Amino acid sequence: MHDIRKIGKMASLPIKAAFDIAIPHAFAVGKNIVVDFDGKLTNLGESFLLEGKGEGQLAADCSLCLSSCQVDISFDVSESFVDGDNPPKNLDEDDIKFFDKAIDILPAVERNLFANIPMRFVCGDDCKGFCAGCGVNLNHDPCNCQPEIREEFASLLEQFKEKL
Ligand SMILES: [Zn+2]
Ligand SMILES: [Zn+2]
Repeated sequence: MHDIRKIGKMASLPIKAAFDIAIPHAFAVGKNIVVDFDGKLTNLGESFLLEGKGEGQLAADCSLCLSSCQVDISFDVSESFVDGDNPPKNLDEDDIKFFDKAIDILPAVERNLFANIPMRFVCGDDCKGFCAGCGVNLNHDPCNCQPEIREEFASLLEQFKEKL
């Protein structure tokens, strides 16, 4: 919590903070992420502007080979806070209300984090994933598909193409 009475008009309060944020189930990633935030909160008179950058590492499963991997997440934060006890006339729907002269920046950091979590992860640019035929993880093992099956598949594919 940051006491807004300590931030003079047009002055900025530097903020460095770490947050342990729970990630909603809708994302196919680890349950929590520790985000380091580095930025500033500026008193613009009618509102307070939070600007900065968030960074963290996310545990996720590769979409291709399902192995767990660490993914670096970094995102910009730019959010406006307004006094909920004394709201300004020109309220923007994206403004975050604060009460009792204290600003909690966590909702702003969370909002921008969630907007920047990819829905799909790949463990590396060279991930080969699973073979659709025999199911081996091609990063670790060679394909076990029988050549006959492969040929059968190829001819089926040909027949299919002819029908198109
Ligand atoms: Zn992978
Ligand atoms: Zn195979």
